[in-house]
Amino acid sequence: MMAPRIVVAGSANMDLVGIAERLPLPGETVLGDDFVMMPGGKGANQAIAAARAGGDAVFLGAIGSDSFGVTLNARLNAAGVDTAHVRTVYGASGVAVIMVDRGAENSILVAPGANRTFSDLTAAEEQVIAGGDVLLCQLEIPIDTVVAACKAARAGGTRTILNAAPARELPADLLANVDLLVVNEVEARTIAGQTITGSETPDMAALLALVPRVVLTLGGAGSRYAERDGRDETVPAFVVEATDTTAAGDAFTAALAVAWGEGRDLMEAVRWANAAGAACVRKLGASSALPTRAEIDELYQ
Ligand code: ATP
Repeated sequence: MMAPRIVVAGSANMDLVGIAERLPLPGETVLGDDFVMMPGGKGANQAIAAARAGGDAVFLGAIGSDSFGVTLNARLNAAGVDTAHVRTVYGASGVAVIMVDRGAENSILVAPGANRTFSDLTAAEEQVIAGGDVLLCQLEIPIDTVVAACKAARAGGTRTILNAAPARELPADLLANVDLLVVNEVEARTIAGQTITGSETPDMAALLALVPRVVLTLGGAGSRYAERDGRDETVPAFVVEATDTTAAGDAFTAALAVAWGEGRDLMEAVRWANAAGAACVRKLGASSALPTRAEIDELYQ
């Protein structure tokens, strides 16, 4: 079977993670314990996750001319992601400055850098999208670019998945071009116009009035798949010992894209994506924890 072509249009960041006993207060300096630097950004993470899950992954995005950009590009290439169309722009790459304390509480500042310049899709980029089996987008790049990418996909007969993270309301011309929406409960409530801090169940009927298919991720409770005038089922999570939930959503969404691109039924694709999410939370780390196809299949059996 040919690997499905998964086009990911999104962000790439370098995550700079400082670990300390406690987080500094405004104006305060705290001597930390440790520091790690790792490639991140939902776009790059999902492209790497798609390649590891067996997809023929292509990344469309913008990285800076700094040394972080070199590392980000190398990381994508090493994972087998096609980076031929990645833009290198003069200036800083996207950076996330993350502080974590001993209780795993964190504070994050994202400086989007080059990601902010990823706009006005070129004809070549639109062609890559039209040539894909599935387009996968998130919301860490300018929203107009996400809209343009989904429109190019629709025009080219490529199916579109929007992982609407981070949470925000979505414009109508984006929703009109989304085939499958993947959201967690906070994102779902935001899009459905509910109070985001409330504990009420996301209004699936409201979401299905906007897009034809929705996957709601539920953390350790698995996920729920619902389609307009059709199925609505909750799929329990695979039981694993959770070590670190970072990037579980990225592993899940990318695996879902690969399985759907392979032509698998969406209910089965959601179960397989649950296995990918579970395989990810077993391991420590972000992109290094993204599971391979063999690791996903092993849990799925
Ligand atoms: P993030 O943005 O932190 O990556 P998210 O909120 O988008 O995550 P989650 O719902 O936390 O996504 O997780 C995605 C999927 O990963 C879940 O739908 C589930 O299948 C799997 N998963 C997450 N946590 C666990 C867990 N503790 N045990 C088993 N599977 C899990």
